[in-house]
Amino acid sequence: MIPFVDLRAIHQPLYSELVEAFTGVLDGNAFVLGPAVEQFERSFAAYVGRKHCVGLNSGTSALHLALKSYGIGPGDEVITTPHTFVATAWAISYCGARPVFADVEASTGNINSEQVRALVTPRTKAILPVDLYGNPAALTVLEEVAATNGLRLIDDACQAHGSRLSGRPVGSFGDVACFSFYPAKNLGAVGEGGAVVTDDDALADRLRMLRDHAQVGRHNHVEIGFNYRMEGVQGAVLGIKLHYLDSWNSARSHAAARYFELLSGLEGVRLPSVTPGGEPNWHLFVVRVASRERVIRSMQEMGVQTAVHYPVPVHLQPAYAHLGYRKGDFPEAEAFASSCLSLPMFPTITEGDQVRVAKSLAVAVGGAA
Ligand SMILES: *Cc1c(COP(=O)(O)O)cnc(C)c1O
Repeated sequence: MIPFVDLRAIHQPLYSELVEAFTGVLDGNAFVLGPAVEQFERSFAAYVGRKHCVGLNSGTSALHLALKSYGIGPGDEVITTPHTFVATAWAISYCGARPVFADVEASTGNINSEQVRALVTPRTKAILPVDLYGNPAALTVLEEVAATNGLRLIDDACQAHGSRLSGRPVGSFGDVACFSFYPAKNLGAVGEGGAVVTDDDALADRLRMLRDHAQVGRHNHVEIGFNYRMEGVQGAVLGIKLHYLDSWNSARSHAAARYFELLSGLEGVRLPSVTPGGEPNWHLFVVRVASRERVIRSMQEMGVQTAVHYPVPVHLQPAYAHLGYRKGDFPEAEAFASSCLSLPMFPTITEGDQVRVAKSLAVAVGGAA
């Protein structure tokens, strides 16, 4: 069976380094925040070209705290994409604000910046794009839309560690960017983790205060706070794994190029599109096919595991029925949701594996025609 991801193969060569990191945290007794987290924060801020990185306990917390730190709340609107992991929208809802969805580009599946422009109202406070599958959203255009309308640009870069756009690292666009270190992300912890990066000194202080029960001085809580702190062991592991991120991403990029070669011209399979000027980290390699459920079953029978990111767009999730959106409101997002198929993608995938994936996909779509 060719797995969809293979985390064991990533960790196996780092085994002794990781065990050393675990014992370091155990001996140092710094289980929550502490020196390993601070060191990782400095390294990751430098990696994405920002002044500050605030380490948190998940990407979902990062998105929530970023919006919260700007005072976004009830009565406010935040424009985002319906074709994403649902946590993007949760962050808006946790603040009591309203998610306003814009359709996605037919090519990339990333938020359509011209629709964003058209959806701005006096209640709009921020734009929250997602660098879907690791491919940067049209961030330079969105920076202009945000500046023109006096809005915050908060980038959901939870899938885009190491991606670049026009030569700039993802994470350096907009007011802040949010990352997830969920184990299956390109830079993954051994548990939950996340971070907000920014150049704004005052905002970084505010994020650090909010993640730690809004404490200013011992036992002095200046507003309603959160327990969103990064664990010491996650900081230690992420600090080690960050050294390997570029080499893993370049292995993924070679694998992506190989998929393009193997699959080009295959009828019934639409290959992924990259944003102009974008250098994706290839977190996921997502093709589009008709009769997806049949293709998945058929590939599974041939020993190839696939996944779907994401089958139901956020505006059609039961949790968001109260927003009043209907099927047909975002035709491109809905078309993506019903046809997207994520092929096996991880740094150690072999050429032989990829040839098998391509053959099984060809047979599967042939059978579906
Ligand atoms: C993973 C992910 C999140 C949430 O991150 P967690 O660390 O799992 O909370 C948010 N948005 C996107 C686009 C993601 O891929």
